[in-house]
Order: sequence, then C-alpha cells, then structure tokens
Amino acid sequence: VLRAAQKFKLPAQFRGRTLCYGLIGPIFCPRCRSLLAASIGLNEEQKEFQKVAFDFAANEMAPHMAEWDEKEIFPVETMRKAAQLGFGGIYVHPDLGGAGLSRLDTSIIFEALSTGCVSTTAYMSIHNMCVWMIDTFGNDEQRHEFCPPLCSMDRFASYCLTEPGSGSDAASLTTSAKRDGDNYILNGSKAFISGGGETDVYVVMCRTGGSGARGISCILVEKGTPGLSFGKKERKVGWNSQPTRAVILEDCVVPVANRLGAEGQGFGIAMRGLNGGRINIASCSLGAAHASVLLARDHLSVRKQFGEPLANNQYLQFRLAEMATGLVTARLIVRHAAQALQEDRGDAATVCAMAKLYATEECFKVCNEALQMHGGYGYLKDYAVQQYVRDIRVHQILEGVQSSVIP
Ligand SMILES: Cc1cc2nc3c(=O)[nH]c(=O)nc-3n(C[C@H](O)[C@H](O)[C@H](O)COP(=O)(O)OP(=O)(O)OC[C@H]3O[C@@H](n4cnc5c(N)ncnc54)[C@H](O)[C@@H]3O)c2cc1C
Repeated sequence: VLRAAQKFKLPAQFRGRTLCYGLIGPIFCPRCRSLLAASIGLNEEQKEFQKVAFDFAANEMAPHMAEWDEKEIFPVETMRKAAQLGFGGIYVHPDLGGAGLSRLDTSIIFEALSTGCVSTTAYMSIHNMCVWMIDTFGNDEQRHEFCPPLCSMDRFASYCLTEPGSGSDAASLTTSAKRDGDNYILNGSKAFISGGGETDVYVVMCRTGGSGARGISCILVEKGTPGLSFGKKERKVGWNSQPTRAVILEDCVVPVANRLGAEGQGFGIAMRGLNGGRINIASCSLGAAHASVLLARDHLSVRKQFGEPLANNQYLQFRLAEMATGLVTARLIVRHAAQALQEDRGDAATVCAMAKLYATEECFKVCNEALQMHGGYGYLKDYAVQQYVRDIRVHQILEGVQSSVIP
C-alpha cells in the first residue's frame, strides 16, 4: 500500500481539479499533500485558507518548533505574522479586526497550524477564545477598546479559570472581587495560566456573589495593574513554547467597567468560551496526529529491517491504516461539533465536549503509535514525533469534559 501510495499518480480526469484522495490507496494525496482527506467536503474558500494555514505552518512554524520547545521561546513575532493572516481573531467580527469566520473554518485553520507547532497553535487557540468572549459578552466600549489590538496580536490574552484548589470543579473557585464604588478589589490566585506573565489581558473568573456558579463574574485585568503579579514559570512536559504561570491578585483594583456581562454571568461566559475552546484544542490534536502519521509513514519507508523497508511489513501497514482511520474519525466528530456550535444547536455543548474527549484521546494514541513506529529514534529529540506526543498529552487533561457528556 505504501509503495502504491508513493507511485500514485492522479487519473487524467482528476488532474487540475482540487481533489484529495486521503486514506489508504493512496495513504495521502500526492497532489495537494493534504493527508487523509483533510480538505474533503470543504468549499473552495475553506480549501484556500486551509492551504494558507498549512503553508504558514510549514514555512514559519515547523522549522522552529524544536528550538521554541528546547529554549522555551514564546514566538511573539511569528504569532503576529499569523495575525496578519487573520489568525488572531478568527471567529471575531470583522469590524473589530477579526476574520469573521465560522467555527468549522477555525477548526480547519487550527488543525493545519498545529502541524507546524502544536504548543504555539494551542496558545493561539486560547487567545482566540478570549477575544471571542470579549467580542460576544462585552459592551461596545469594551469590544472596541480590547478586541482590535488582540486580533492583531499586538496584545495577547489569557483565560483565568483554574485555581490551586479548584480545577475540575471550576464553579468552586474562591478568587474574590469585592465591590468598592466604581471598582472591584480582587484577591486570590489562578493556577496554570497559559501565557501568564507575558500576556496583556487576563480574563478572570472571580466571585462577586455567593457560592456556586451563580456567584461568579468575569472581569478583565490588564497587565501592569497594581496588585497583579505572577508565579514562577512552570516546567512542563510539553507546551513549552508558551509560558504557564500562576496569576496572583492581591488587593488588585479593577474598574467595574472591565466586567464582561452582568454580575453572576461569569461562569456561563467561561463555559460558552470553552465550547469553542474544546473544538479548538481538539483541532490542535488533529494537527498533531496528522503530522505524526506523515512522519511514521516516511520513517517506515526509509527504515530497513530484516532486509527490506519496514513499510513492507503488513502488520505495520495495518497499524498505519488504523492510525489514519483514527485521525479521520476524530476529524469527523470535531467538524460535526464545530457545525453544531455554529448553528447554536441545543446539543452543541455536549457535542463539543464529546468531540474534545474523543479527538484528544484518539489523536494521542495516533501520535504515540507513530512514535512507536520510529523505534528508539522516536525517543530522541532529533525526531519531531516525540514533540507532538509531548505537546498533545496535556489536551487530555485541560478543558475537562466528562461531566458535560454524561447523559
Ligand atoms: C499546561 C497547562 C495549561 C493550562 N492552561 C490553563 C489556562 O490557560 N487557564 C485555566 O483556567 N486553566 C488552565 N489549565 C488548568 C486545567 O484546565 C486543569 O489542570 C484541569 O481543569 C484539571 O484540573 P486539576 O489540574 O485541578 O485536576 P483535578 O481537578 O484535581 O483532577 C485530577 C484528576 O481527577 C479527575 N477527577 C476530578 N474530579 C473527578 C470526579 N468528580 N470524578 C472522577 N474523576 C475526577 C480528573 O479528571 C483528573 O484526572 C492548564 C493546565 C495545564 C497543565
């Protein structure tokens, strides 16, 4: 099958048409290099920006992803370049500098970008989620003040929900915001904040009322506000191109004008943001699996054991077929969820959670299997596959979903 894939030529009737064969026989389309039907079912416009994102990933991200990981570089300038293509506010309204694209479009873009660097794309996906929250729940003044510089990535955003004592049980958070005239005084700390310390706008879920979800509000805290400080940079298994720090609020005075929505709406806003966030993180997992299948395929075709390429081994061909199938099924549920969210369907939150649950687990298996196919080389940092495995492991941990899926 692999040999056939390499020799494969498009039949004459399909030449000059945008067509992707995907899957086994051939394993990938030699014409558009779009593996495993990534562009099947997309309209012409979607295929165009998918190509732009794949090209950006290949040219601007993939050559640097190992260095960003090794040296823990937050690639601000590269992200600003991506923002020039509209990737800083993909599903934000165009009058605020956003690209005004759909959730499905967004998923296609994050999948493609992730092939070049999962960690950087995952941060960009969190940033996009924050800008959308401000666009959707902010008043006109907040939208026009905050969104344009975030869409251009002149400024960066962080999402602050988790606390040291409240992770999966997010509604039990204790960071307080006490009203004092036209200000709130915030006290508490947020844990594991992506971008923490290096971003400019912190979307903070905090308690303005009683216990439970209804006592939570959402307040924007800007870097430089007295009382806002950061913990040490966490040392992580993956996601090393983005810093993770605790965000500490000590008598931090923030204008009431920085509150998104009404008091008590914060938890709902946070969860609405996460519906899209889950599709985005799942899409980043798709990109990692996508890249890993290609790496495994290439490795099997050059590595010889027992006198012939590993690609001739039928067991490994079958395993590769299963990985390809895992990727495609994960992509199907992610795109299905993106469509449900776009249409604001009643089951959207559940389907988004299911897509995140399924895709992050399935894609991790795919990447891990790709590493296995590299043998000992897969464990060396000279080979990219290990970075995809390390980077997507955390997707199974964060943005928890199970409780949203239980029927
Ligand atoms: C690299 C990284 C970046 C992150 N970025 C952000 C960010 O930008 N913003 C943010 O707000 N948060 C962020 N997080 C936090 C992340 O969302 C939490 O780690 C996650 O929600 C899990 O919470 P926890 O770590 O407290 O685990 P816990 O809630 O303590 O859970 C531990 C384990 O127990 C399981 N568990 C929990 N409750 C139950 C239950 N009732 N029944 C069965 N099993 C259960 C969990 O599934 C998990 O396996 C980040 C985390 C990491 C690691």
